[in-house]
Amino acid sequence: MDICVQKFGGSSLATSEQRVHVCDRINEAYEKGCHPVVVVSAMGRAGDPYATDTLLSLVKSADSQQDARNLDLLLACGEIISAVVLSEALNARGLKAQAVTGWQGGILTDANHGSARILSINPKKIYSLIEAGVIPVVAGFQGATNDGEITTLGRGGSDTTAVALAAVLKTGYVEIYTDVDGIKTVDPRIIPDAPTLSTLTYREIMEMAHLGAKVIHPRAVEIGMEAGITIRVLSTVEPGKGTIISSGKEVEHPISDRVVTGIAYISNRAHVRIASEQDFNQSKLALQIFQELANHGVSVDLIYLSPNLIAFIIDQEMSDLVKKVLAPYRLNISVEKGYTKVSVVGAGMHGVPGVMARVVQSLEQAKVGIYHTTDSHANISCLIKEDKLTDAVQALFQEFELSNKEGQE
Ligand code: ADP
Ligand code: ASP
Ligand code: MG
Repeated sequence: MDICVQKFGGSSLATSEQRVHVCDRINEAYEKGCHPVVVVSAMGRAGDPYATDTLLSLVKSADSQQDARNLDLLLACGEIISAVVLSEALNARGLKAQAVTGWQGGILTDANHGSARILSINPKKIYSLIEAGVIPVVAGFQGATNDGEITTLGRGGSDTTAVALAAVLKTGYVEIYTDVDGIKTVDPRIIPDAPTLSTLTYREIMEMAHLGAKVIHPRAVEIGMEAGITIRVLSTVEPGKGTIISSGKEVEHPISDRVVTGIAYISNRAHVRIASEQDFNQSKLALQIFQELANHGVSVDLIYLSPNLIAFIIDQEMSDLVKKVLAPYRLNISVEKGYTKVSVVGAGMHGVPGVMARVVQSLEQAKVGIYHTTDSHANISCLIKEDKLTDAVQALFQEFELSNKEGQE
């Protein structure tokens, strides 16, 4: 019997009514002659009793850093609860299922708590359940180190569990079920009628995921690309064709030659500016600053370094920590919250003149101030004020004709 890996996101598992749809999808796979291996996220979203953000809020405080090992222990519970609840629902439907934690499922990770990487998977337990005719319901987003320490894979990491399992079980294919009908040109929370892309290459979605499109975990795409796994993202409730992510070779209408494929954004950023009268290049100060931040686990982005100014953005939750860590240097430092990094993404923009001009012009017309920009071969990112996000996205969406159906479903 073939094996198929199906992953269900937290938004699909929040209520017993929603779990009926999940059971339907699993049952359909079973009836098609495929033995499902199910991966689940924690049930629901912030505010729901067992959602990851709710668990996080139990211990979060602004003035102290939580112990990363403790946090992983806490967060891993969300997915375990979800796996148990879903396997009980499957059992009640007459489908034999058993909940499996990450470590019971043989998922070995490094010790980087909060953002661990899967090192290997020993599928013994999963194969033994399959042989016994039982559906394994694996808790996503978690694993354990060689020393038995429990780890998590980074926010959104259940996608990665699913793709990594598909790689080890050699299924060649994985289904990611969620609350949207596929990957769209932009987050439908901002543009509700953004079209769904029928196909995307690994590279295109990886770029979008790294730049904030939370619909899929970037590491999941990386593993999919390395192992040649076709990933289908589709709706749990009304599964249509969804979006197929692959190398693109077999795609009839590749869209990778589009200048801009989509828009992504990362909110809750703080803009840090450090001015100095003494030349940063002549002192070791710049190095000391970045080393200090790294030692405290602060990741920096949109970095600008010049003789008298260092600027970068951080997760705004890190603002107080950054101020505290840099205080002893007695610098002229400002940390301003309330920014968003918005990016246009497209593998086809490389070498095309005028893309930046179109970005600047459309944002200017929409009265959106730009505080910093950066670009790569496949994206242009702008730092804007958070309260201008919708205006910015709408302007870019129109400028790059992302409602256009060409190459899309
Ligand atoms: P799940 O709980 O299924 O893992 P996520 O919240 O992680 O769900 O991902 C689905 C959400 O991703 C959608 O509800 C949507 O708001 C958001 N999203 C962001 N960018 C996109 C995009 N380009 N296309 C589709 N959804 C997107
Ligand atoms: N529950 C985890 C999160 O909210 C993992 C996931 O949803 O994939 O980030
Ligand atoms: Mg997700």
